[in-house]
Amino acid sequence: MSHKRISINTASPGKPRSRIMIIYTGGTFGMTYDAHGVLVPFDFSLILSQLPTLRNLFLDLTVISFDIPIDSSNIWPEHWKMIAEIIFENYGDQDGFVVLHGTDTMSFTASAISFMLSGLAKPVIFTGAQLPISEPRSDARENLITSLEIASAKKEGVAIVPEVCIYFDYELIRGNRSKKVESMHFDAFESENYPVLAKAGVKIDYNNVVIHHPLPDASLKIFKKFDTNISILKLFPGISQKTVDAILNTADLKALVLETYGSGNAPSAPWFIKSIREAISKGLIILNISQCPGGMVVQGKYETSKALGDIGVISGGDMTTESAVTKLMILMAEYDQLMVRQLINKPLAGEITI
Ligand code: ASP
Repeated sequence: MSHKRISINTASPGKPRSRIMIIYTGGTFGMTYDAHGVLVPFDFSLILSQLPTLRNLFLDLTVISFDIPIDSSNIWPEHWKMIAEIIFENYGDQDGFVVLHGTDTMSFTASAISFMLSGLAKPVIFTGAQLPISEPRSDARENLITSLEIASAKKEGVAIVPEVCIYFDYELIRGNRSKKVESMHFDAFESENYPVLAKAGVKIDYNNVVIHHPLPDASLKIFKKFDTNISILKLFPGISQKTVDAILNTADLKALVLETYGSGNAPSAPWFIKSIREAISKGLIILNISQCPGGMVVQGKYETSKALGDIGVISGGDMTTESAVTKLMILMAEYDQLMVRQLINKPLAGEITI
């Protein structure tokens, strides 16, 4: 797995407004039809022929491309490490970053990167497209151009959005609050539990009061280890004891995201509570995340969630599953079990409401 620098000449008259690095990982964005009518990744060095207006942005653009661009279903934590390292190594030279990524797992990657880069003071904007850039009706062009605008936007020399975000279909949302919710229409992502950070119309309206800024003395730190001994158990009426026990007894399992109903509710069947209690007593971390994209887990609101709190299930509040999974992987690689239990429902990068 490696990456390469692609040179594109966006030289325009006068001094560039900003230096922005584009990291191209793959996805539908960069697809084009080959001679047999099959969608294949396009050669990113040809971006200017697809999007000549890049020259009119007055930006100094550097492009780093995955050697082999991938469909985001093939993303693994090693790719998150590569993306975070590229940003970390080029941080001093660039004003902002735009990451082109497939939409399928973009929320996982954006969540992971938000936890991997602490003290971030520059924009990292993820975007992609529902239709390849080679298609006349593609959303790729607008998504990339506006992402570049946002990545370079400054007020009095300071980045307006120093966060890991997703820009898609005229909205900017916090990466670790995002969810892919749509595969046929252009509005692929939503952030149910946190306000939109900006809306793009004739001008880009930033919702400044909800944008996170690092402490003035914070410096960028990178966390790049993952412990992937985790699983997700999504409840459904009729789930069998065999299924629940098989997952709870997975070899080397250290943490489980329990996807519950509504405000964190689960069956009160004695076998279910007993299995969960036994797993926790053997050391498993169980985090309660709701299947609802909006609202939050409140253990004890209903009788069907009180038992979970009583036996040591941790409430995940209003975190998304994508945030919960990536945050667990990173915390478990850094800290012991006690510390992970303490940190998992405290905000690291604005991913949970307290
Ligand atoms: N399967 C594609 C991917 O996630 C879909 C997309 O890019 O929108 O890479």
